[in-house]
Amino acid sequence: MAEPLLKVNNIEVIYDHVILVLKGVSLEVPEGGIVALLGANGAGKSTTLKSISNLLRAERGDVTKGTIELNGKTVHNLTANDLVRQGCVQVMEGRHCFEHLTIEENLLTGAYTRGRVNAAVKADLQMVYDYFPRLYERRKSQAGYTSGGEQQMCAIGRALMARPKIILLDEPSMGLAPQLVEQIFEIVKKLNKEEGVSFLLAEQNTSVALKYADYGYILENGRVVMDGDAESLANNEDVKEFYLGVS
Ligand code: ATP
Repeated sequence: MAEPLLKVNNIEVIYDHVILVLKGVSLEVPEGGIVALLGANGAGKSTTLKSISNLLRAERGDVTKGTIELNGKTVHNLTANDLVRQGCVQVMEGRHCFEHLTIEENLLTGAYTRGRVNAAVKADLQMVYDYFPRLYERRKSQAGYTSGGEQQMCAIGRALMARPKIILLDEPSMGLAPQLVEQIFEIVKKLNKEEGVSFLLAEQNTSVALKYADYGYILENGRVVMDGDAESLANNEDVKEFYLGVS
């Protein structure tokens, strides 16, 4: 069987040397897959994504056990910059666009590991505008003056400018109207299908995540308590009761 693109193997994460938050999390993302990481507020979804992209140190967090592999190579000693070069980019919760830069300038920052703005970068900018026509319309606006949905699109577009193999997408639905959430997930699905980008997406919105993902993991209190293909999770009675609000 082919090696998964991303393999997280039994990681433990501790903040501030004492607060044990992830207690042995394992998950896989196959090449070309969309995998959802689900769970309530505080379950450890963002911590898992930051462990993969090596962004924990800034928050005094440490992976103290386990391994993380991208394309069969151990990556947990790489800097976040090197990881981008290896094809793994995170879109942080809350988008974090540069407010004073225009949408286009924000998008171009995503290509900084590629050097000059050459023809290939310009072609990718056009590709981003083709997927997100709204960003083309708003390209000259300062990001700080655009809507939450436009900023989420900008954050995904910026990640695409690095030509990633996998995007770690943290809570894309946060604060957005349901119709806009669907629109963004439709584009994620399209990018997956047409550009072959894999996604690991952390979401509290279980129903929308399971609608678009192929596979899901449910985290509770720093542990994976259930995993399975999206359809079987969506039909599971416990998932229905505790995460989908139906029973
Ligand atoms: P949310 O959707 O609210 O972001 P989450 O599932 O992504 O939830 P995390 O943000 O990973 O959860 O948080 C998991 C646990 O780790 C929580 O109890 C949180 O309070 C704690 N935590 C997160 N960051 C830190 C930090 N920098 N220092 C100490 N504890 C932290």
